[in-house]
Amino acid sequence: MSGFPDIDPGTVWLVGAGPGDPGLLTLLAHHALSQADVVIHDALVGSGVLDMIPASAQRIAMGKRAGRTSPVQETISALMIEHAQAGKRVVRLKGGDPFVFARGAEEALALAEAGIAFRIVPGVTAGIGGLAMAGIPLTSKQISSVAMATGHGPDGSLDPKLDVEGLGRSADMLVFYMAIETLPELTDRLLKSGRDPQTPAAIVSHASLPDQQVLTSCLGELREAVKRAKPPTPALLVIGANVALRERLTA
Ligand code: SAH
Repeated sequence: MSGFPDIDPGTVWLVGAGPGDPGLLTLLAHHALSQADVVIHDALVGSGVLDMIPASAQRIAMGKRAGRTSPVQETISALMIEHAQAGKRVVRLKGGDPFVFARGAEEALALAEAGIAFRIVPGVTAGIGGLAMAGIPLTSKQISSVAMATGHGPDGSLDPKLDVEGLGRSADMLVFYMAIETLPELTDRLLKSGRDPQTPAAIVSHASLPDQQVLTSCLGELREAVKRAKPPTPALLVIGANVALRERLTA
């Protein structure tokens, strides 16, 4: 594609693949894929996006799953460095945005430490673009703040540093990534912090994909609704007044 910078041999581009729909890939991400010698991708990257990887490129699936820690992360970094040092044009492809709950910062730091040149190509993060696809705007006139947090701490439970009550009291809209397992604790703590049980809440699964599913409820009832419906993952938890706009914003 003309006008875009080329990937220099021996460098790594950390590229966001968006929430799944290949139409949400940026032009720069598409350009990067077309030039790659090696693509190292996460389990979260949509199959429609993977189909855009040229047949000539080596494709390496690094299914980094929630819960696994540093050894896997180190393997990924070592792999990127090894291919870059071999003079390859490397694309590290991540679901959503590489710098949003994706360890993109850690991977970029590993590259910097190894003296490998890299570029960040931002992507549409699930917690903004994916929710938009579900008819949930994160801001509107009635919303003055949004908090994004992870429901997945270092050992699979909530991070002890996460001030759930503080977020619940201060942010109008709350978006939690990786929060299905810890949802009972999260919702309980938000209710105890004084958040209105009637606050609209939703689980958005497979956002932007043909099998996108949205479960709407309210904070006080969400836990039971999720237990009954068992929404598929990946899924986002979103809480706040604008969830109710979905009714009018989806056909
Ligand atoms: N870097 C990604 C987030 C990775 S963390 C981004 O910017 O979107 C993984 C979590 O992202 C999942 O547990 C889920 O909460 C969320 N997620 C990613 N893709 C999603 C999708 N298509 N639909 C719903 N949630 C998604």
